[in-house]
Amino acid sequence: MPDFHQPLELRRYPLPVEIEPGAALVKVEMAGICGTDVHLWKGQLQIPRPIILGHETVGVITRIGGGSKTDWTGASLLEGDRVTWGAGMLCGHCYHCAVIRQPTRCLNRSAYGISFNSDDPPHFSGGYAEYIYLRPGTAIFKLSDVSDETVTGAGCALVTAIHGLERMGISWGDKVVIQGSGPVGLAALAVAKSSGASMIIVIGGPAARLELAQTFGADYTINIDEITDSAKRLSQLKELAGGYGADAVIECVGAPSVVPEGFEMCRDGGKYLVLGHYGDAGVAPINPHVITRKQLTVYGSWASEPRHMAAALEFLRKQGERFPFDRLVTHRFSLDRANEALQTTAQWVSGKSVIVP
Ligand SMILES: [Zn+2]
Ligand SMILES: [Zn+2]
Repeated sequence: MPDFHQPLELRRYPLPVEIEPGAALVKVEMAGICGTDVHLWKGQLQIPRPIILGHETVGVITRIGGGSKTDWTGASLLEGDRVTWGAGMLCGHCYHCAVIRQPTRCLNRSAYGISFNSDDPPHFSGGYAEYIYLRPGTAIFKLSDVSDETVTGAGCALVTAIHGLERMGISWGDKVVIQGSGPVGLAALAVAKSSGASMIIVIGGPAARLELAQTFGADYTINIDEITDSAKRLSQLKELAGGYGADAVIECVGAPSVVPEGFEMCRDGGKYLVLGHYGDAGVAPINPHVITRKQLTVYGSWASEPRHMAAALEFLRKQGERFPFDRLVTHRFSLDRANEALQTTAQWVSGKSVIVP
């Protein structure tokens, strides 16, 4: 990406000559396009340009640096191994990492596809490329029995949902509402369902995504294209949830206007998790009286830690058939069509677009 709002373009950079100890050069097999990439492209987070986007990637190690060669779990790592990795790198010793234990807010955090200017060596620091250079300290995970489609289909959405639901907590038997049926909504659905939620209602669209939500175990779906009036959605939802609203509501849309609607969907004493606003999409009028009157608890959650990715891969290994994330991958593009891939995501045409360089 040369700059915000500019079409993506192909650029050539020299591959690194030396691979540092603890680093690896990886040939990209599949790179997911995340909704966040669209927000980045629109300039909703300050990031360096030019940049190689892409923070959900699978590839094969072609060269590996010296020193200890193990992945994050301690498994041996060799050239030829298929791997994925945590996009964010945490320092482990700053105030946020070491004192208040909020490591995803690490003061020295950097992330592939988000933090590195591609004109600076080692250049290859994002997924939308033929190669990526994994720096020392990257949490690498060897993949044996999980497909490229499953890993990129789950993408950063699954680790985001695992972290978010860990912060908020779902109790066995909870009635849960999920606002949004994109990748984050479906991931939140999978995590809530497997955490013991007794009823899950997904509000979103279009119809194909809601069908996939039903495959993932949604008990009811509300199509926003059919029920366009907020008050009608609210009354239908309360009826479905037994009259009082939901125990927990999870925002997975990224549009500010859904947050006040979501507050109203909570039962008194309920909780609300804002998961979809990784980009700054602006403000929405919120009546704080609602939070007081309903005694709501509101949670936020930013990105994820390597342990969430370890948990996500284990979840996909064990429950990949129950929650078929590979089916989210609907559109494939070659690297020279990366721009088109980003636009299909921006226009919500695809379940999930991927680049196969
Ligand atoms: Zn993402
Ligand atoms: Zn830190």
